[in-house]
Amino acid sequence: MDSSDRSHGAKALAMGFTSDNIAGASPEVVEAMLASSTGQASPYGADDFTARVERKLSEIFEREVDVFLVPTGTAANSLCLATITPPWGNIYCHPSSHINNDECGAPAFYTNGAKLVAVDGQSAKIDPASLRSAASVKVGDVHSTQPSSVSITQATEVGSVYTLDEIQALGDVCKTSSIKLHMDGSRFANALVSLGCSPAEMTWKAGVDVLSFGATKNGVFAAEAIVLFDASLASEMGYRRKRAGHLFSKMRFLSAQIDAYLTDDLWLRNARQANGAAQRLTQGLEGLSGVEVLGAIEANIVFCRLPSAVIESLLQAGFEFYHDRWGPNVVRLVTSFSTTIEDVDNLLAHVTRAVVAR
Ligand SMILES: *Cc1c(COP(=O)(O)O)cnc(C)c1O
Repeated sequence: MDSSDRSHGAKALAMGFTSDNIAGASPEVVEAMLASSTGQASPYGADDFTARVERKLSEIFEREVDVFLVPTGTAANSLCLATITPPWGNIYCHPSSHINNDECGAPAFYTNGAKLVAVDGQSAKIDPASLRSAASVKVGDVHSTQPSSVSITQATEVGSVYTLDEIQALGDVCKTSSIKLHMDGSRFANALVSLGCSPAEMTWKAGVDVLSFGATKNGVFAAEAIVLFDASLASEMGYRRKRAGHLFSKMRFLSAQIDAYLTDDLWLRNARQANGAAQRLTQGLEGLSGVEVLGAIEANIVFCRLPSAVIESLLQAGFEFYHDRWGPNVVRLVTSFSTTIEDVDNLLAHVTRAVVAR
């Protein structure tokens, strides 16, 4: 579509379902960035925008928290893990986790060589009993890397969501094993609105020590918040962030994004839009012959199995999505805050036609 199409006012239907980071940014965030760009502001986080973000996150989490803004989720995760894991530590994570597969070894780099140890479980969620046995191997043996931290992803890489009981069970194992619990909340808001609980319940009340509070995938340009529930980690995090080159001198531009994101529940509204689109997509797919929805759809990621002819036809029509990476004919469809009902219905109409024509 060229600019002349756009001038007619109708929004083009979105054809991309590869991931939620193909979406742009919410208008509220764009406006906040513009508004924050005039005038002077103290550098390196000593500005009013940053102070407001710290205050808002403390309100949202119902306690004092320490906040460190960074530009990417990889930086947030790796800095969190470095602050709770010594170089000789084990970081337990699910085999399908982002830190294990998609961060180019950044957790090992930032921790000076800590070891990622995969602990399996259903639906990309770590099984507490398996964690307990993994974390009891060779404890105190100087020849072995030592149990130090656990990283869980909420919502997970397959779109499932840990229940509060499941987080608490892992938190309990961490406490008895004296290890720290990190949450990769790249899709924190999607998980939160799915559970319908409070941010406090989903984190520190269940035993989470450090959180990567994602925002980029849910409506901002590029900003993630490291949230610490243990004040004793804050000073070290400050040095680590600077040393990693992630202390922005014009911090107000990261803060203005998060500030707008947290204002008037934009973050929750965006997540409800994304999850709602995934639910609508799921319901539409479930009725079609030859189509199988895989697993429970709890956030904004839909896995399904489609006949090859249907996949071919969708690609021909210009739809974009990943397929056959997780198994033959397995398709992943990701919705976002910018996915509309019309976008979903357009995709469903194509699937329906392709199923019939097959
Ligand atoms: C997207 C994502 C991240 C962050 O990725 P960056 O590209 O570094 O911003 C972290 N964890 C999960 C589960 C993700 O999906």
